[in-house]
Amino acid sequence: MRKTTSTIFLKQGREASVKRFHPWVFSGAIQQIEGEPTDGDWVEVKDAKKQTLGFGHYQKGTITVRLLSFTNSLDKKLYSDKILNAFNQRVFTKVINDHTNCYRLIHGEGDGLPGLIIDVYNGVAVMQAHTVGMHLDRSLIAEAIKETLFNSAHSIYYKSQNTLQAKTENEYLLGMGVVPHVITEHNNKFYVDWEEGQKTGFFLDQRENRKLLGEMAKGASILNTFCYTGGFSVYALNAGATLVHSVDSSEKAIDLTRKNIELNGFDAKQHECFAMDTFDFLKDKKDKYDLIILDPPAFAKHKDAKHQAMKGYQRLNAEAMRAIKPNGIIFTFSCSQVVDKQLFYDTVVSAALQSGREIKVLQHIGQPADHPVSLYHPEGEYLKGLVLYVN
Ligand code: SAH
Repeated sequence: MRKTTSTIFLKQGREASVKRFHPWVFSGAIQQIEGEPTDGDWVEVKDAKKQTLGFGHYQKGTITVRLLSFTNSLDKKLYSDKILNAFNQRVFTKVINDHTNCYRLIHGEGDGLPGLIIDVYNGVAVMQAHTVGMHLDRSLIAEAIKETLFNSAHSIYYKSQNTLQAKTENEYLLGMGVVPHVITEHNNKFYVDWEEGQKTGFFLDQRENRKLLGEMAKGASILNTFCYTGGFSVYALNAGATLVHSVDSSEKAIDLTRKNIELNGFDAKQHECFAMDTFDFLKDKKDKYDLIILDPPAFAKHKDAKHQAMKGYQRLNAEAMRAIKPNGIIFTFSCSQVVDKQLFYDTVVSAALQSGREIKVLQHIGQPADHPVSLYHPEGEYLKGLVLYVN
């Protein structure tokens, strides 16, 4: 473990959120810094009475410290303990099972490790740092993964080129994976390419929602928009959908979708791909689909973009509501962190009013058990979904 370089003293009264296990220390809560920490350093956090509150990674900015420990001393086994704890939770909740060999092992704050993401794809762990502290600790974390997953992770790929401001190389910290690599998710097969793919290579957060869609797909004609590698499309076909159309603006994503459809034994008779913009695609569609999936990328990544994003969600949902067959189902999602559940719901209501259709909510859905949200850090809840029935 790297040594703690500095001590951060909080203003009187500003220790309350840390005492409630919220892991972020905002710059405005800091009274004084003892030492000269640089980005990524381990620092100790104390209250105004000089009582230790915990330890974390320092990074100059609005969130100045991300706490990884709320104890009096820094435990050398912090990473292996937290990784083991997270792994046991995935085993206990049956995320890892005979028909699923891919899962999120570490989900940042939800697993007590702010700034760190680890996804495991059938023996290959893909690690992503969102803070300098996690970047500097990458070897230690890789050791902890090796120790915890024993023989079940033969390779570790470190991929933080696009998540950190400073230039870093993507590289294997252990072994050497061969891409594309086949994973199994609820018995559906997918190629994953963590080297070239978006994020860590695959959107594991939609696993249970794809399964739910599969339960409704038999005999239906289905449109999967923003399909990326065709996750929902593969589930739909395996579940007996009569026709599936997949749309994504990225040619690369469409190429991967095509390969995944083939991998599962289907051909162009049941499935067609469209490399185009979803809004353009929906324009001239009416009464063609029984079921439509809307899973756009985060329309708002920052608070400033919120208003524009709401307009985007409203237009998208209204278009799909207008287009869908009578008695059809829409799976609609938002993965923007700055758009909370209520705001997303209200936007869907506006879209419904705009479409003039009669609509009911069948289910509220969200992120699965391997994307946990700390009760003390509600900001961790980012994926929101609604299953709608359109008369
Ligand atoms: N549903 C997918 C994940 C979607 S990620 C899954 O289950 O794996 C969002 C995708 O939207 C990306 O692949 C991106 O290329 C695509 N995209 C972004 N803007 C788009 C647009 N305007 N029209 C169609 N696709 C778009």
